[in-house]
Amino acid sequence: MSTTPIKEPTFRESVDLMYNRAVALMDLPPGLEEKIRVCNATYTVRFGVRLRGQIQTFVGYRSVHSEHMEPVKGGIRFATAVNQDEVEALAALMTYKCALVEAPFGGSKGGLCVDPRQYDDHEMEMITRRFAYELIKRDLINPSQNVPAPDMGTGEREMAWIADQFGRMNTTDINAKACVTGKPLNGGGIAGRVEATGRGVQYALREFFRSDEDKAAAGLTGSLDGKRIIVQGLGNVGYHAAKFLREEDGATITGIIERDGALFSETGLDVEAVRNWIVQNGGVKGFPDATYVADGGKVLEEDCDILVPAALEGVINLENADRIKTKLIIEAANGPVTAGADDILRAKGIVIIPDMYANAGGVTVSYFEWVKNLSHIRFGRMQRRQEEARHQLVVNELERLDAVLGDKWNLDPKFKEKFLPGADELELVRSGLDDTMRVAYQSMREVWHGRSDVTDLRTAAYIVAIDRVAKSYRAKGL
Ligand code: NAD
Repeated sequence: MSTTPIKEPTFRESVDLMYNRAVALMDLPPGLEEKIRVCNATYTVRFGVRLRGQIQTFVGYRSVHSEHMEPVKGGIRFATAVNQDEVEALAALMTYKCALVEAPFGGSKGGLCVDPRQYDDHEMEMITRRFAYELIKRDLINPSQNVPAPDMGTGEREMAWIADQFGRMNTTDINAKACVTGKPLNGGGIAGRVEATGRGVQYALREFFRSDEDKAAAGLTGSLDGKRIIVQGLGNVGYHAAKFLREEDGATITGIIERDGALFSETGLDVEAVRNWIVQNGGVKGFPDATYVADGGKVLEEDCDILVPAALEGVINLENADRIKTKLIIEAANGPVTAGADDILRAKGIVIIPDMYANAGGVTVSYFEWVKNLSHIRFGRMQRRQEEARHQLVVNELERLDAVLGDKWNLDPKFKEKFLPGADELELVRSGLDDTMRVAYQSMREVWHGRSDVTDLRTAAYIVAIDRVAKSYRAKGL
């Protein structure tokens, strides 16, 4: 008996479908609606690099979705599956994400078809610098026009090479370091950028859990403490999110899904130990004290309180959506739930915290890094000691009181320890990120609960974002 293959839209079509669902509830002129939806430009480059005695050709993309604000911003992905449809979908999501968290950028994204695990450090440096050269000479990397960041397969190392390449080609540009974010701290980066996206996922969940009404919508109660969480992808985003939720909020990580399979344990996995195991063994297989499941994707369907897809797009789709048992999904990755699956999950009553909000911690701290580079000063450098001196005055007075009151009142020694130090860059970055995630959540939430025709957070997020982009275009006279 033949079965009809399931027709799943492409990633870009999926983003467009979700966009269309939201604009149908808005009052935009059709021309503007179309202008915001379309991707402005996608540049494709093919370049050769001499490696191991022969020339190898690589294909890369940089897509600019919307220039209603400049520079445009978005990560660069290194993966063999990179293609034009994917970068355009990701660029569109960047436009909406920046608007939602009020980062003053348009949306962009880049990608290179390469498997970084097949090349050594020196080879990767040659490939990255050559790709950067191609983009820089067309102003597709530029502090005032287009500012990339890390994404899947890239990190601090690649961003440092890109920044250096830009500096070499723009020797008199005093703002050269602002051409890319996600750089290492000693190469113009900012404290807290590596952890930022995972930290943002944690802050997003904390904000969600502050509302009894929102928890009730997902059939959840109480705090994050003891909640059973399954994470897919223990890379930059998944590792930090899982680590912080476990160590700081008391959540139990019952499942970790990676490329080579999944680990499952009802009593909880030690995230740090699993990460070390992956680094040493190249995968999760063989990790002690957990059940290994060769077909990792099946673990997405296990019963849990919160599912955190933090690897790649399209993993929850028309094929498996019906079998998903979690109460809450937080989309740490971009596009992990397809448009069709989204319909099925909503009908099942599963609440989804959408990607454009959930993983916006990365671009938020990238924004702080860009500002730091342009202002050429570390956050907190001017205020920290002055703040400490003022705190010292208060502590002195409290100590005087302590001495006068004798046994009637005693100053808690921990108070002094906690209160005295002025905020350093990391604390300021975390505070700015926390504030951004809280404010953006409330803007989505207002639409979700405030309008009878909006029944989910994703549609609410799109409405908030599209409205801001539309206002920006209108202000320009379009
Ligand atoms: P990463 O390369 O650091 O990690 C990805 C992880 O997923 C790796 O551990 C990899 O082994 C795993 N993985 C790959 N294929 C898998 C599969 N089929 N099944 C299970 N696991 C698989 O990438 P990242 O930076 O953590 O990005 C992950 C997602 O988060 C992407 O969708 C990306 O667009 C999104 N994102 C990243 C950032 C950021 O700051 N890095 C910001 C916003 C959004």
